[in-house]
Amino acid sequence: MSIFGPTGIELSYLIASSLFIIGLKRLGSPATARQGNTIAAVGMLIAVVVTLLDRNVLNYEMILLGIAAGSVIGAIAAQRVAMTEMPQMVGLLNGLGGAASALVAVAEFWRLLGTAAAVPLEATITTILGVLIGGVTLTGSLVAFAKLQGIMPGAPITFQLQQPFNLSLLLIFLTGSAYLIVEPHNVPIFLGLVSISLLLGVLFVIPIGGADTPVVISLLNSYSGLAASAAGFILGNNMLIIAGALVGASGIILTQIMCKAMNRSITNVLFSAFGSGAAATATEGAQGDKVVHSIDPEEGAMMLGYARSVVIVPGYGMAVAQAQHSVRELADQLERLNVSVKYAIHPVAGRMPGHMNVLLAEANVPYPQLCDMEDINPDLDRTDVALVIGANDVVNPAARDNASSPIYGMPILEVDKALHTIVIKRGMSAGFAGVDNDLFYKDKTMMMFGGAKEVVDKLVSEVKQL
Ligand code: NDP
Repeated sequence: MSIFGPTGIELSYLIASSLFIIGLKRLGSPATARQGNTIAAVGMLIAVVVTLLDRNVLNYEMILLGIAAGSVIGAIAAQRVAMTEMPQMVGLLNGLGGAASALVAVAEFWRLLGTAAAVPLEATITTILGVLIGGVTLTGSLVAFAKLQGIMPGAPITFQLQQPFNLSLLLIFLTGSAYLIVEPHNVPIFLGLVSISLLLGVLFVIPIGGADTPVVISLLNSYSGLAASAAGFILGNNMLIIAGALVGASGIILTQIMCKAMNRSITNVLFSAFGSGAAATATEGAQGDKVVHSIDPEEGAMMLGYARSVVIVPGYGMAVAQAQHSVRELADQLERLNVSVKYAIHPVAGRMPGHMNVLLAEANVPYPQLCDMEDINPDLDRTDVALVIGANDVVNPAARDNASSPIYGMPILEVDKALHTIVIKRGMSAGFAGVDNDLFYKDKTMMMFGGAKEVVDKLVSEVKQL
C-alpha cells in the first residue's frame, strides 16, 4: 500500500497538475518564463515521487537504472545541442515520448490478455488509440528529425497515388481495430495494427518539405501528449491523463500560432500542400540586372549614430552567429548617443517560436525594448533606420506585395517603410523559404556584407568613436 493512500495520491496529483497549469501560464511571457519552468518542474517532481511511492511500483532497481541512463544522455544532449538545432531535438524527444506511450499500451494490453478472461472494451479501444498515436508520433518524429538534421533530404518525397494509398492504410487500420475489439486475443491483428501505425507515421511526414517540418514537429509534440493521455487511460492514472492533455493542448496552440505566422491553415498543413510549398520553388541570390547598394561599417555607424530612432530586426543569421551580445552592446552605444532603440520580433524569426526572445534575454536586453510585429509595424514609417541582422524571410516585401510568391500572405516586419534600411548578412543567399528578397535591391536599402558578429562588432567600435 502506498504511504499516501489513494486520496493522498490523487491530492498530490491535483497539486502537481495545478503547478503545471501555473507554470504554463508563466511560460507565456519572457519575464516570467524561467519561474514558470521551475514551477512546472516542481510539479513534475511531485508527480514522479508520488508515483514511485505508489504500491504498484514493484521494481525500483530498473527505474533507478532508467533514471540514471536517461539523466546522463539528457544532460549530454542538452549541453551539446545548438540553439538552432532545437526543433530537431524537440522532434526526437516527441518521438521518444510517443514510443514510451505506445510501449505502455502494448505492455498493458499484453498483460490483460494473459490475465483477464475477457479484455474490457474500453481497454481495447484505449490501447488501439495509444498504439496509433504513439506509433505515428514515433516514426513521424524520427523522419522529421532526419530531415532537419540533414540525415535525409529535406525535399518532399512523393509518389503516385500517395493520398489514396495512405487512406487505404487508414481504412485497413480501422477495419483491423473493429476486428480486435470483437476478438481481442487475435495477436497477429494486434501486431498488424502496430506495424500500420509505424508506417503511417513515416508516410505522414515524408511528403512534407523542409520549410514546413518545424510546424509538423509542433503538431507531433501535441500528438505525443495525446499518446501519453491515452496511456493514462490505459493505466488508470489521472496524472498522465492531465499532463498528456496539457501537452496536447499546448502543442496544438503552438501549431496554430506557427501556422498563422507562416500564413498556413492547419487543414492546409494536415491534408494538402505539404511539400509543394515554399522550399520547392527556391531561387537564390541576385537576379538579372538588379542593383545592390552596399556600405561598410564606418558609413553604417554614421547612419546609426546620427539617427533619432533605430529598430533592430534580428533573424536566424544573428542566432547562428551568436551575435546577440554584440547587438546589445551596439544598442547601448547608440543609446549613449540618445538614439531610441527598439527590437522588432517576428513570431517565426529564427528556427523556433520565441527564438529571438530567448537569445536577446540571454544578452540582458530589457524586455520593454522588445516589440511584437503588430506593435512595431505602425511605427516603422517613422523610423530613421531599420537594422536587419541576419533576417530575410520575415522582412521580405514579396509576402505582402507579390501574390505569386510562395510566402505570399505571411505577415512581415515592414522594414521597407523605414527611412533607411541596413541589412547585415554574408551574401545574397535566400532565407529558409528559399525565395529571393526584393528588399535588398531597393534604393533605400544598404547591404552590409559579412558575418553578423564580425560586422556588429565593427559597428560597435565605429559608433564608440562618434
Ligand atoms: P531566414 O532563414 O529567412 O534568413 C536568414 C538569413 O541569415 C539568410 O538569408 C542568411 O543569408 C543569413 N545568415 C546566415 N548566417 C549568417 C551569419 N553568420 N551572419 C549573418 N547572416 C547570416 O531567417 P528569418 O529569421 O528571417 O526567418 C525565419 C524563417 O524560418 C522563416 O521562413 C520562418 O517561416 C522559418 N521558420 C521559423 C520557425 C520558428 O518557429 N521561428 C519554425 C519554422 C520555420 P546569407 O547566407 O547570405 O548570410
